[in-house]
Amino acid sequence: MERGYIHVYTGNGKGKTTAALGMSLRCICAGKQVFFGQFIKDWSYSELKAGEFLPDFEIVQFGRGCFISRDPTEEDRRAACEGLIRCSQALQSGEYDLVVLDEVNVALYYDLFGVADVIDILERRDPRTEVVLTGRYAPQEIIDVADLVTEMREIKHYFNEGVEARAGIEC
Ligand code: ATP
Ligand code: MG
Repeated sequence: MERGYIHVYTGNGKGKTTAALGMSLRCICAGKQVFFGQFIKDWSYSELKAGEFLPDFEIVQFGRGCFISRDPTEEDRRAACEGLIRCSQALQSGEYDLVVLDEVNVALYYDLFGVADVIDILERRDPRTEVVLTGRYAPQEIIDVADLVTEMREIKHYFNEGVEARAGIEC
């Protein structure tokens, strides 16, 4: 039986969510099934339409308004915890070859749920399922349980010149 590994894409440079989407596309083209959960996010990112083109790609958002400029509310916490349950079901079902928890590290940073909850669902997953965890600020406990960790490091980013997220490129 093939074993699925745990990937972490973290750091302050561009490419974490993009890498997870790229691997999802590769996986689908190999005839596999992908579940892509997005924590924090609730904007209409272009990738939300991917399911229309790719029937083996399921993408769901668990964000309730961006709270980066405010403290998280109970509603943010509840939505994130429900999202974690959805991801846990996808991980345990054995129906998906790849499960992505996009921005889960940011959800942990804002204490929407605990790191022990995430480690618990990783340990209880179907052992054949590959997992990707993305987001800045990956905590040491997550790095410790991962098999592959990549840090995207910003050397330059046009965001610092005032270029906001653009459709198809960042969102
Ligand atoms: P992408 O989705 O483009 O792969 P990412 O997942 O690596 O990026 P996030 O930390 O999720 O990066 O943040 C993405 C958003 O933050 C973008 O909308 C971008 O405009 C903004 N941003 C600001 N600074 C950076 C940076 N140094 N790297 C990436 N995104 C940045
Ligand atoms: Mg991202």
